Amino acid sequence: METPKNPTSVNHRIREGLSRVAVAMRSDDWNRAKTAGLNPAQLSILETLEGRDVGMGVKEIAVHLSVSQPSATDSINALERKGLVEKRTGLDKRAVVVCLTAEGRAVLTSSAKTDTSAEQAVDALAEHEQEELLISLVKMIRHLQDIDAIPIQRMCASCRYFAPFKHTDAAKPHHCNFVDASFGQRDIRIDCREHEAADPAFRAATWDAFQKG
Ligand code: SF4
Repeated sequence: METPKNPTSVNHRIREGLSRVAVAMRSDDWNRAKTAGLNPAQLSILETLEGRDVGMGVKEIAVHLSVSQPSATDSINALERKGLVEKRTGLDKRAVVVCLTAEGRAVLTSSAKTDTSAEQAVDALAEHEQEELLISLVKMIRHLQDIDAIPIQRMCASCRYFAPFKHTDAAKPHHCNFVDASFGQRDIRIDCREHEAADPAFRAATWDAFQKG
């Protein structure tokens, strides 16, 4: 029997905690999707396409969302019938890519208006706790990328424009070379539309500097 004197490992208990948060997030996703007349898989595809103006291939979408290609295809076809996405010829003229339509963007804007229960739970944390949680999540996501559990995300940590701890200002130590501006730890992005993946050597050096900072 588990007691305070004999707890399961911290790793196990953190996983239990994350799975409870995931339950609330799944429920949030159902509610937001239902309001938009979609299911959560369809809403996730719209969110994935947001900010990717050149579109994404079906396979790329499936990998990004960790779903099978047939399942992604079904959802994309349903979204296309609703007029929320469209298929276009990609930049290399050989592949077909999926892009958001103006109607798709409008659905995303209205579905983002509701403050979800997960966001309310984050609001209940103190500012320094929010920042610590954000940085811990960045570290976990980076590890998941390293072990190929998820594809490269559009995070500052993997971006060619990121210059960590370039400034002595403790409130804004980092620099984004895309907008040429300094920013703080709590402004670190998880999914930035301006992100451009750095090469592996640059990524490793950036991460090293970020960790040491
Ligand atoms: S472009 Fe976006 S991801 Fe890249 S460093 Fe700037 S804020 Fe971060």
